Amino acid sequence: MSSKELLSNKLQNMSESATLAMAQKAREVRAQGHDVIALSLGQPDFDTPDHIIKAAQEAVDAGYTRYTPVPGLLELREAIVTKFKRDNGLEFTPTQISVSNGAKQNIANVCLALLDPGDETIILTPYWVSYFDIVKFAGGTPIAVKGKIDQDFKVTPDQLEAAITDKTKLLIFSSPCNPTGSVYTMDELEALAAVLEKHERITIISDEIYEYINFTGKHASIGTIPSVKDRVVTINGMSKGFAMTGWRLGYMGGPQWLINACNKVQGQFTSGANSFGQKAAAVALTSDLAPTHKMAEAYLNRKKLIQKLLGEIPGIKINNPQGAFYIFPDVSSYFGKSDGTTTIKDSFDFAEYILMNAHVAIVAGAAFGEEDCIRISYATSEDQLTEACRRIKETLSKLS
Ligand code: PMP
Ligand code: GLU
Repeated sequence: MSSKELLSNKLQNMSESATLAMAQKAREVRAQGHDVIALSLGQPDFDTPDHIIKAAQEAVDAGYTRYTPVPGLLELREAIVTKFKRDNGLEFTPTQISVSNGAKQNIANVCLALLDPGDETIILTPYWVSYFDIVKFAGGTPIAVKGKIDQDFKVTPDQLEAAITDKTKLLIFSSPCNPTGSVYTMDELEALAAVLEKHERITIISDEIYEYINFTGKHASIGTIPSVKDRVVTINGMSKGFAMTGWRLGYMGGPQWLINACNKVQGQFTSGANSFGQKAAAVALTSDLAPTHKMAEAYLNRKKLIQKLLGEIPGIKINNPQGAFYIFPDVSSYFGKSDGTTTIKDSFDFAEYILMNAHVAIVAGAAFGEEDCIRISYATSEDQLTEACRRIKETLSKLS
């Protein structure tokens, strides 16, 4: 019997995370001796700010080394309540907060708690890779509703309305968006909420993990809109704004019945998140955000640089991302082109070709639901970005 036959159908139907797979591929090509510039993984290149590290060290010394309550230390949940009110105008009690091993787990908990076979989940597209497979694994049916580059990759209320059926149970989106960097304004969220308020069965996951990397100067949370606020789960986490990807800490605030259900899932799967990290996260959320704002400033400078450099490459179409640290160029004009040996058919071929020939790792747009594009993470130094774009330009110039 082959080992494949032993695996569950739901596992076999699951794709590997394309972002993590590309990061691994980049490591392999680097191990072969090539100087690979990795623009594949959405990971801040900054170190976690010192005061947060110090808080974790102090927590270990103070003996915070044991299990915490499943939803998280009360002290951290109180800090999250304060943060949601201060930054987003969202009102929660500490029991409406749940802390997990990364926002990824928060999202998985909600999907596992809500979805039964046949339940449809509308995913605003382009979407972050993992939404699609988490929904499928939880038993739901993902429905991609696509905003094209000409509409700044944002979905309109009419498109949303047209996708809703009596089976729609959940809506997921991120703003600022991974992979496009698009930011929904309050007016745009209100227009989507005006559609959603007519469909009481739909829960909304608003993934705001890139909140602090927003170049518009204004972050809008759909959970503040009165007509839908009781059905919104607001997801956030420490990974992006505080450069804490490896700490594995995410959190959410939402309706009590749903948070209770998610805690039940988490109680069986993983228990509370790591204890001393939670102590440090409480300090991070309640301290001066100057280090966070400084990182966001650096991302803005890098964005301007990469926009300029990509703009100089013929056949690449870009929009003006307003947040996160991604740019999502349309490279479809290269599909069908060849260097005489290899022909690029789609975004996967394009990413593979750039990795093998320019030694720059990027991710195929198809993994995010948009075949015409590729995703570039610009969370790296300006020197690396300049060299990466030089190599991409040179490599593409050989195709015809
Ligand atoms: N949501 C989005 C949109 C992301 O890009 C990521 C990837 N970091 C996550 C959630 C998960 O983040 P983490 O699990 O590191 O908190
Ligand atoms: N969210 C990041 C990305 O999109 C990290 C990788 C992942 O968790 O998929 O690259």
